[in-house]
Amino acid sequence: MALVYKEEYKNIAKIGGKEIHFKPWNTKNEKEFLIAVESDEDITDSMLYELLVKPCIKEQDIVLDEYEQKLLMIEMRKKSIGSTFPLSYKCSNCKNLNEIEVELDDIIKYNEPKYDEVTVEDITISFGVPRTEKLIKRLDEVDTKVEKTFYNFLIHINYIIIDGVKEDTFSFEELKDYIESLPTSIFDEFYEKYSAMSPNLRFELDQYCMFCNEKNQINLEGIPNFLWA
Ligand SMILES: [Zn+2]
Repeated sequence: MALVYKEEYKNIAKIGGKEIHFKPWNTKNEKEFLIAVESDEDITDSMLYELLVKPCIKEQDIVLDEYEQKLLMIEMRKKSIGSTFPLSYKCSNCKNLNEIEVELDDIIKYNEPKYDEVTVEDITISFGVPRTEKLIKRLDEVDTKVEKTFYNFLIHINYIIIDGVKEDTFSFEELKDYIESLPTSIFDEFYEKYSAMSPNLRFELDQYCMFCNEKNQINLEGIPNFLWA
């Protein structure tokens, strides 16, 4: 006799034009997540991805940006634990405690990216989804907000055209040195246009108090809060 639970990738998530097959979380995934929560105060997004998403998807080579990773994690959460989670909040008006069950789909506010080429003077930068998972992990190397914002900009550069010559074989370090050497006026213009194309993902909920009917706007920060709730 063999003790084998046959796991299948029966679920499909459609994110950013990609189809991803996945299986629900198993006990091992949950245990590893809970151990990480217990041992580490600050669980990064890429840690969550490694623990809970990567082991459960069929397309192991697929590259998802950080927002797509979060959206996929929520799809997995829905199929593994359920599509709702409990939330209690104090009304801003009457101060009464509201205890509600929230649909995950109701809190996701997502604007898809609109990446494209941007030209400033004689430089053209093509922005896109990071080409490798290794690039996305670069975000874990930096601690400050400033560096994180800068690294995020770098990993979304797919190629650069300088004086009509397309450059696309540079290393991350070469790219970093190059961008750092640009005059701030040029960089700022690139950055402004890149920001406008970038995706945006927030977790928010408008909720009417069950006591006084006041509209409360609730911001839900990171994912771990409602993951296993
Ligand atoms: Zn109220």
